[in-house]
Formats: sequence, structure tokens, C-alpha cells
Amino acid sequence: MAEDKRKPKDIPIQEALTLAQKWMDSGCTVFFKFTCENCGARQTFSEPNTLYAKGKCEECGHITALKEAGFMVIKVSGALTTPLPDESISPN
Ligand SMILES: [Zn+2]
Repeated sequence: MAEDKRKPKDIPIQEALTLAQKWMDSGCTVFFKFTCENCGARQTFSEPNTLYAKGKCEECGHITALKEAGFMVIKVSGALTTPLPDESISPN
């Protein structure tokens, strides 16, 4: 069986931080993501380059203590761009 494509790909926090740091070091902006442990909704932190220990789900209000996380990378070329609103951000 292949990997379950319905599941977002989260990795252990420390791993995510290490990987994300490399992107940040190269001048990219990173937005961390997590999956709500209650309803499974994919959530993105609105603060760039910041990973919190806990995240509140915008769908159900549940607070998830993060054990795993993912992130998206925004490459900044030249002028700074305004981060997209949450609803436009998709891991796919
Ligand atoms: Zn939720």
C-alpha cells in the first residue's frame, strides 16, 4: 500500500524546525502548519517563521499540543510580499 494521501504529511517538531531553519537561513519565509487532533483540520500559523507549542483550530476551537508539524516555504525574491490569507494556503 502506498502512503495515505488523505493524511497531511507532518513530521516530528524537531525535524520540522531543523528543516525550516535551513529555509529561513537562505532567506525564505516559513509558515508552520499542524493538524487538529480533534477534527483533523489542517491549520497554518499566521506568524511567519514561528512555531508554537500549541495551536488552536479555527474549525472546532480545539487546542492541539503539537507533537508533529509541517510547514510551507515562501521564497522571497526582491520585494516583500504580503502573506496570503489563511484560506488561500493549501499544502497541495
Ligand atoms: Zn479542529
